[in-house]
Amino acid sequence: MYPFRDVEAKWQRRWEETGLFRVREAPGTPKYYCLEMFPYPSGRIHMGHVRNYAIGDVISRYKRMRGYNVLHPMGWDAFGLPAENAAIEHGVHPAVWTFENVDTMKAQLKKLGTSYDWERELSTCDPEYYRWEQLVFIRMFERGLAYRKAGTVNWCPSCQTVLANEQVEAGRCWRCDTEVILQQVEGWYFKITAYADELLEWCDRLTGWPERVLTMQRNWIGKSEGAEFDLPVAGCPDLRIRIFTTRPDTSFGMTYAVLAPEHPLVDRLVGDEEERRAVAAFRAEVARETEIERLATDRPKRGLRLRARAVNPFNGAEIPLFLADYVLMGYGTGAIMAVPGEDQRDWDFAEAHGLPIIETVKRPPGWTGEAYTGDGIKINSGFLDGLTLGEAKRKAVEWLVGRGIGEAKVNYRLRDWGISRQRYWGAPIPIVYCPACGTVPEKPEHLPVVLPRNVQITGKGGSPLTDVPAFVNARCPRCGGPGRRDTDTMDTFVESSWYFLRYCSAKYDRGMADPEAVHYWMPVDQYIGGIEHAILHLLYARFYTKVLRDLGLFRVDEPFQNLLTQGMVIKDGAKMSKSKGNVVDPDELIATYGADTARLFSLFAAPPEKDLDWSDQGVEGAFRFLNRVWRFVEANREALGPAGVPGPDDLSAPGRAFRRVIHETIQRVTNDIEDRFHFNTAISAIHELVNALHAFAGESLDRVPSEERRALLREATETLLRLFAPFAPHLVEELWSQLGHAGSIFREAWPTADLAALERDAVLIVVQVDGRVRSRLAVPPDTAEETLRTRALTDAKVRPWLETRNVERVVVVPGRLVNIVTRSS
Ligand SMILES: [Zn+2]
Ligand SMILES: [Zn+2]
Repeated sequence: MYPFRDVEAKWQRRWEETGLFRVREAPGTPKYYCLEMFPYPSGRIHMGHVRNYAIGDVISRYKRMRGYNVLHPMGWDAFGLPAENAAIEHGVHPAVWTFENVDTMKAQLKKLGTSYDWERELSTCDPEYYRWEQLVFIRMFERGLAYRKAGTVNWCPSCQTVLANEQVEAGRCWRCDTEVILQQVEGWYFKITAYADELLEWCDRLTGWPERVLTMQRNWIGKSEGAEFDLPVAGCPDLRIRIFTTRPDTSFGMTYAVLAPEHPLVDRLVGDEEERRAVAAFRAEVARETEIERLATDRPKRGLRLRARAVNPFNGAEIPLFLADYVLMGYGTGAIMAVPGEDQRDWDFAEAHGLPIIETVKRPPGWTGEAYTGDGIKINSGFLDGLTLGEAKRKAVEWLVGRGIGEAKVNYRLRDWGISRQRYWGAPIPIVYCPACGTVPEKPEHLPVVLPRNVQITGKGGSPLTDVPAFVNARCPRCGGPGRRDTDTMDTFVESSWYFLRYCSAKYDRGMADPEAVHYWMPVDQYIGGIEHAILHLLYARFYTKVLRDLGLFRVDEPFQNLLTQGMVIKDGAKMSKSKGNVVDPDELIATYGADTARLFSLFAAPPEKDLDWSDQGVEGAFRFLNRVWRFVEANREALGPAGVPGPDDLSAPGRAFRRVIHETIQRVTNDIEDRFHFNTAISAIHELVNALHAFAGESLDRVPSEERRALLREATETLLRLFAPFAPHLVEELWSQLGHAGSIFREAWPTADLAALERDAVLIVVQVDGRVRSRLAVPPDTAEETLRTRALTDAKVRPWLETRNVERVVVVPGRLVNIVTRSS
């Protein structure tokens, strides 16, 4: 067994002492910024972390050997609820809890041997960090990009805080899985909707992102183009219902209209006390449903018919008006025209309520479905009849504009990002409320607004900061009079929206980051993390980066050039989690087998984007392989030729074949890493090289001249170590030094394949004309059929036999013969 404990400790110490992974900007040298999503300091790292960081580490070490100036930093997403919950449960201050966890996890990461530049380590709960986002908050406030409003928001009763729409998954809190309820709360919003179009357009340019993530972002932004127009209310000339539709071409098929139950016009439409009571009851019923339930396509739509009626302006027809749960106030105008003929949701509702259905698009032959959403020629549509769908849309909008009752309109599903959290452990919002001046931002020179340490955290709801008079009572930054500080804290997704910029110059004290350093390092070349952040962190960070650009801070349009979303770590058929009791502790794994085994196993067991199935045999296998490499080098060290001495130019046949294997392996491993990080197949190729090495060392003693043999064993062993270095860095460093090298292998260049060595020996192909051998061709063994055919037909020794005859057909047996069949001409 190789002494992994000593070897790993030795090289971790050596790397730190020599500052191997510390980097500086080096204009003129190509840079590579490799970043794994930084962890929340929850207490201990888990196998999911190990996998994430092993992937980033292989890429970083590989790019370094390819000659890049590699930035590979690590830090802590240190604000958040678990710290506060721990405080409530165990009576320990969130800051103490957080920093203890950071210490533990940092020690664990160091034992994993990841190549971080620890000088750039940052913690988002450090006032020297969050002061800059407070400054940006003020700049955003000045430009109307941060604003305060009261609104219906998602509220997690367990976390006792507001959640942004992105933080509600299937009606539940993203963090604690509690069902989310709606509440009226006043708070701060970031105007992400102002960037909806740019965020959407840039999705097409993020070619290094998984299509799945881009699709999720596109759907979340949810751009829809259509028209907005007014429906008059029958008998009430002063009442109009503004509706939004993506299909103005179907207006003639409108057989009813629907208002969101919470629509402000509803109260003016109800006739008497009886209807008022019915509306109130219906609203109460709908209020119990989550937004997800209301929008679900697979459940019946609740509706309440009003006595008031609307008028379809296109044909003057009076139509019924409904309140229905499937129309939401937050989307479009909170009211729709219903066209059951061309909308399945409307069809289902019309069927359930016995409403007429009018088709306005000619169905394709054989159509037997219900609502038809495809293209076709307009029918039953007055002046739109005979037009295609696209033409009819344009014409309908023209008609509305001409009459002054409507316009073309683009709508988005995306809502502004609510960032106020009614909790303690976060960055304070730099705002003071003054009875005289109103809402006043803190003076930049007074930043940071530091989160006070001395608080009572009870978890009873509301921000604990309210009970800290020294914090709450503040002078108004404008008039100097007594004011009151905002006691909410910012969503922690604000901190993670710019940490990658801070890493570029983590100690910079005149702003978020040194613009020069950002200019050199950004964008992140490779970002690695879980897909669960597709419409959370990954969307927020894109938005925030664009805001910083528009505030004139940095010239960066998009933060992440390439994105890899790694799969989960699965054991016994389920994601590893404490509650399922199927967790493997990385510390134990490292203690038993070493960090290189932990890394190698997680890289070999599955391609990075796929789920990784935990297997004890897989771990054993990785450990055995490392031992095999170790033993081989130990046993054959004396048999290797001197370093740097090339072998003879003319190799023996077995020598040539072996050298080809070496260089084919270089090609395979390089391609596998470059091409979508197929580390598992790269490791397989390395396995094969080790097999070939063993075979050659054993069989070549009396078949290959001694000098040639020694030179080839040296070349193969050193190539193996270079190729294997990013995967098992400790083991390889030790073996590299045992082979007589003084410096780190990570200062060595990545090997390049010698194309001459890749050429295979020629094979002889027999050329027959009508069954008689007329020539022989010497060609590489994998020569294509078409090439063999042409070479045979144009061969000098064959041509005379074809002069007076016509070629009827040519039979090619690859690697063996070409037979030309002729008949007389
Ligand atoms: Zn929650
Ligand atoms: Zn004032």
